Amino acid sequence: MIRGSTELVAIVGSPIAQVKSPENFNTWFANNACDLAMIPIDLQETALGAFVENLRGWRNLRGCVVTVPYKQVLATRLDGLSERAKALGSVNVIRREPDGRLLGDNVDGAGFLGAARLQGFVASGKRALVVGCGGVGSAIAYALGEAGLGQITLSDPSAERVGALGEVLGKAFAELEIATQYRSLEDFDLVVNASPVGMGNNGELPLPSTLLETLKTTTLVADVVTSPEITPLLHQARERGCAIQTGVQMAFAQLGHLGAFMGVTPLEI
Ligand code: NAD
Repeated sequence: MIRGSTELVAIVGSPIAQVKSPENFNTWFANNACDLAMIPIDLQETALGAFVENLRGWRNLRGCVVTVPYKQVLATRLDGLSERAKALGSVNVIRREPDGRLLGDNVDGAGFLGAARLQGFVASGKRALVVGCGGVGSAIAYALGEAGLGQITLSDPSAERVGALGEVLGKAFAELEIATQYRSLEDFDLVVNASPVGMGNNGELPLPSTLLETLKTTTLVADVVTSPEITPLLHQARERGCAIQTGVQMAFAQLGHLGAFMGVTPLEI
């Protein structure tokens, strides 16, 4: 029940009907008897400037989760950014301070790592392949760098995106070895699909089948795609005997990070 006293958080993007955060947060708020609610906002791009001004003045709003396509543009309009959000040039969560200032962070990578830790994955000194160097791939790569990964291989059809991410990582993590070429998957401890390939039911793989045959069974194979939960990549990896991590697990592991940044849940939920 939303009452006059209820404090709000929001999630903004466009489209918005597919997002799972409102049901996840509202279930948690109800189960923990919190007078809090999350509302979804499908925002037209032309309203972005007015929206940011409204957030500043919206006194019973604690914060706002940000999803596609506003993660990058909103990072340029806030009053302060975490170091990682600044480096990535994107935010997926905003906190409204009591004085109306808006601060941003990006916890996509923290969510990914949280889920990977639950699988027993320790990044320190390991080797990873990140397929897809857009918003989410960059956040995952940055979080792996923060966690002390030894070597990262970046792959994306856009050479510009690979170059831009390589530059961000090179600046932030002097010890991290960065590569862009690979012939086999056998040297990787972690293979992540951070591209939308595999979404829907078209059976597409982000890596050729022949290459997937070089996976070792000790490699953790992860996907960011949430629907289907078991993507063709994860299906094939599981058949080979690899541990797998789904996009749904990554999204769920983010909840505490999003809620804690907005000040509405503990980090561990
Ligand atoms: P984006 O458009 O910023 O980046 C996608 C990248 O994938 C692009 O750089 C594109 O060139 C690359 N790509 C496309 N085809 C490729 C291929 N065959 N091989 C390698 N790279 C390829 O999108 P994004 O915001 O990074 O989102 C990517 C996916 O992550 C989406 O499907 C989104 O739904 C999902 N996502 C999942 C979570 C989660 O918690 N599970 C969170 C956010 C986003």
